[in-house]
Amino acid sequence: MTACKKQKGDLIVLSGPSGVGKSTVIRELLLIRKDIHFSVSYTTRAPRTGEQDGVNYNFVSPAEFQRMVDAEELLEHAEYVGHNYGTSWKVIRDHLDQGDDVLLDIDVQGAIKVRERCPDAVSIFVLPPSLEELARRLRARGTDDEEVIAQRLERAKEECRSCNIYDYLVVNSEVSHTVQEILSILHVYSMRTARRMPLAERIFQAETEAALTASAPSEETKP
Ligand code: 5GP
Repeated sequence: MTACKKQKGDLIVLSGPSGVGKSTVIRELLLIRKDIHFSVSYTTRAPRTGEQDGVNYNFVSPAEFQRMVDAEELLEHAEYVGHNYGTSWKVIRDHLDQGDDVLLDIDVQGAIKVRERCPDAVSIFVLPPSLEELARRLRARGTDDEEVIAQRLERAKEECRSCNIYDYLVVNSEVSHTVQEILSILHVYSMRTARRMPLAERIFQAETEAALTASAPSEETKP
């Protein structure tokens, strides 16, 4: 089938509890699907070691975050374990309008708001193999103290209970397998009828034009 740039990109929402390994999964996914635009969120939390401003997050002050909320610049925003996180509406809208698929890494509250505002978005929840394994991964990360880890685990349990509102669930036992599952979901999603209709219309149009040309009297047969 002829590859063609879509008129509008797909919005992909990926959620999962902190520590489930979403960042690694996203990094690997974007290496394969270089055409997907990753939406860099705004946050008031401090950068972790190795995180870069403008790459992992746009790190902003609480005052700047509030200004963005007041100016309605955010598609959604949420509070997560004491910090604010939000998605820029303009950046993702520009990419979607150019036909690029856009990936959001957001929490459950954010996903609910995005589904309200963008019902066509596809949503995927990444589950840990077990809550014990999630606790182990959060500690192994070594970025948070025990109190924050306990808060994040509590929040993780709540989030996992909301996984039934997502279109798809994947269990991140092994990163490459998870990435393959997400690629399959996106592949099937790109073939849904609503997305393929412009292609079908072009096929019908070509057939109609061919039929009209065939039925039109040629110069020689004209009286
Ligand atoms: P972390 O502090 O571990 O990077 O992120 C904490 C949580 O915030 C994660 O579940 C992550 O998906 C979520 N998050 C990151 N960016 C956004 C955002 O723009 N909006 C919302 N609602 N959640 C976000």
